[in-house]
Amino acid sequence: MMDKNNNKNPRRNFIKNTGLGMGGVILAPSLLSFTEQESVNIARDNKKLGIALVGLGRYSTNQLAPALEKTKNCRLSGIVTGSPSKEKAWKKKYKLPDSNIYNYENFDEIAGNEDIDIVYVVLPISMHKEFTIRAAKAKKHVICEKPMALNAEEAQQMVKACKDNGVLLAIGYRLHFEPFNQRVMELGQQEVFGKVKSIKAVDNSNMTGGSLDLWRLDKERAGGGPLMDLGIYCVQAAIYTMGKPPVAVRAKFGEVTHPAYFRDVEQSITWEMEFDEGVVANCEASYADEEEKNSLSGKAEDGWWKLEPAYSYEGKKGETSNGKMEFPNIYEQVKQMDAQAESFRNNQNPKTPGEMGLRDMKILMAIYNSAKKEGTRVEITY
Ligand code: NAD
Repeated sequence: MMDKNNNKNPRRNFIKNTGLGMGGVILAPSLLSFTEQESVNIARDNKKLGIALVGLGRYSTNQLAPALEKTKNCRLSGIVTGSPSKEKAWKKKYKLPDSNIYNYENFDEIAGNEDIDIVYVVLPISMHKEFTIRAAKAKKHVICEKPMALNAEEAQQMVKACKDNGVLLAIGYRLHFEPFNQRVMELGQQEVFGKVKSIKAVDNSNMTGGSLDLWRLDKERAGGGPLMDLGIYCVQAAIYTMGKPPVAVRAKFGEVTHPAYFRDVEQSITWEMEFDEGVVANCEASYADEEEKNSLSGKAEDGWWKLEPAYSYEGKKGETSNGKMEFPNIYEQVKQMDAQAESFRNNQNPKTPGEMGLRDMKILMAIYNSAKKEGTRVEITY
């Protein structure tokens, strides 16, 4: 049977270049590489696309799988796990057939599974590259969690593997689909209160007091500490406020007051992102803040705004110099996965593509580079 796109080969199609498709953020020309590219076609007559979650940790269990019971464009159709007990529990809870359950060894057999269109990588960061590339080779579109990889070289290889295999790659940047953060994108990028003058972004949690045996505290698996895990939200927030990436950064590691926890990764870090025309975003990420603060604020020529909390799953609040922001708190992961599935179905570059993840990895690496050199200004080339 011919598919809706009337191609000679029903599994291949061309990816449409959406141009400004990054949440209104204008892409640098080097990021626009998905022009007229051959891709795997999963038009599927408007059926829900099947997603396999790889890694059944906290985020998959508490956010993504429940979200996939509410999505319109996609559904949970498979799992990939290293744990036989999770296999059993998930199989029962989500009524998954044995044929859609994989482990890390036999994962590549997913290639022949027509029930699975999208692989969602929700593993420790050191495993993102391997599973994204294996998924691409299996001709599945990929969603990869943040941060994309351990470093920019890995991110580059992931983008290339997806391109070479004709699949699309999206990063799980859920806040691009969330009304409070979308409003900040408008306020900043459309200069609603005039030109942006300064930005402040903070994302702190508290990892002290709990287990010492966590991948997030292990440099080999996490790539770094709070900058990688939380600071990425601040990097993203500053960029989507400005609508463009920074030209340079300066950074400093914070003091280590909990040495048992922070032998391997930084406890905290502060950094500046410098945009052209001199606008500076002051940012902070910590794993040792008892208050677990997270916020995003901006000052412009004729007004200001502030979200607090800005990045938590729930309970966002926002205010501008004109008054309270009135938006509903939504199930972000539902909106995110529905939008990403829709882009995959239409062979369109997703709003938060692999190239965006790669750009951000370059920025994170520049921030570490500067911190290692005691705050030296590091310019970034994209
Ligand atoms: P987690 O520790 O709860 O889960 C990790 C999963 O990977 C577990 O199922 C674990 O068994 C499995 N795993 C396989 N090999 C492992 C190894 N060598 N070491 C440790 N675990 C191993 O982590 P999480 O919080 O679910 O995070 C997973 C990914 O999702 C990370 O990239 C994280 O940044 C991302 N995440 C994103 C958001 C978001 O809001 N977008 C929120 C939370 C986590």
